[in-house]
Amino acid sequence: MEAKGDLLIVRGEGRRILQSFGSRDLPREEDLFGQYLHLNWNSSKGVSIRGPHLEFANANDDSDLIRFVRRYGPVFAEKWEITAVDQRALTYSLEAHQGLPALRHEKQIFAGALNTIIELRLGRRANRSIIASSLKEVARANIGPFAALANSADELNPKDPVSLMLSIGHAALCNLLNRYPPMLQHFEHTVVDFPCYEEKGVRSVLYYMLRQDYLHDHGLGVCSRTDCGAFFAIDRYGQRFCSPRCSQLQRQRDYWHEKGTDMRKARQEAKRKKPMPKTRNAIRRQAY
Ligand SMILES: [Zn+2]
Repeated sequence: MEAKGDLLIVRGEGRRILQSFGSRDLPREEDLFGQYLHLNWNSSKGVSIRGPHLEFANANDDSDLIRFVRRYGPVFAEKWEITAVDQRALTYSLEAHQGLPALRHEKQIFAGALNTIIELRLGRRANRSIIASSLKEVARANIGPFAALANSADELNPKDPVSLMLSIGHAALCNLLNRYPPMLQHFEHTVVDFPCYEEKGVRSVLYYMLRQDYLHDHGLGVCSRTDCGAFFAIDRYGQRFCSPRCSQLQRQRDYWHEKGTDMRKARQEAKRKKPMPKTRNAIRRQAY
């Protein structure tokens, strides 16, 4: 992959013409869907899981996004062309142009959708402002009539704003996910619903993963550490942090916050008990 200003040029060589997901021979670390298939969502043994779609949603800046494209290919290339075909080996080469602004845009929508899914699961306990702000991100995808509703979800003021907001949230998500319907494929002696394959990039595969999370209630969470907020797959009941490091950092922060409050209190207490310092006149009088 080559980066030229705001443009990422991705070249793929030796791609199979008769490609199916079952016959890919990518190394595991570059195989987006292969990694996902091997995730164990029902793990209760504390196995740390970071789905590749979470990696995309967690991209914090351009360098994270570029690393993602370098590893898995374009998310949704504005332009692509076949540059060579090897008819004997039944392979071809491809060049795709992925612009960084489009990549940032895709990431915002994707992360907004994931955040909406996680918050909607709380039902009536859901936080309205979190739903409202994540729906604004989803609305960037031009989700038809839902866009206007999603954009103004925080201004709703009917008798029951939470349930109306939940309905808007689910409608917006369904509308978004229905753009990437799965396709039937014959895979390892069985027929399964797999993501639609696109030359333009892995976007439809990422949305397939999101669709599965939504449909099957995969345990996903948002890290509670104030400065983190990363998406993570929940390993155990009640898990609040994305990693042991975040848990430790937050504990230290809470400790210092608490200790700071105690120290402030103690200082005030001490000040109250201490006799007032003598004024200059009093000292002068004493001297006489
Ligand atoms: Zn974290």
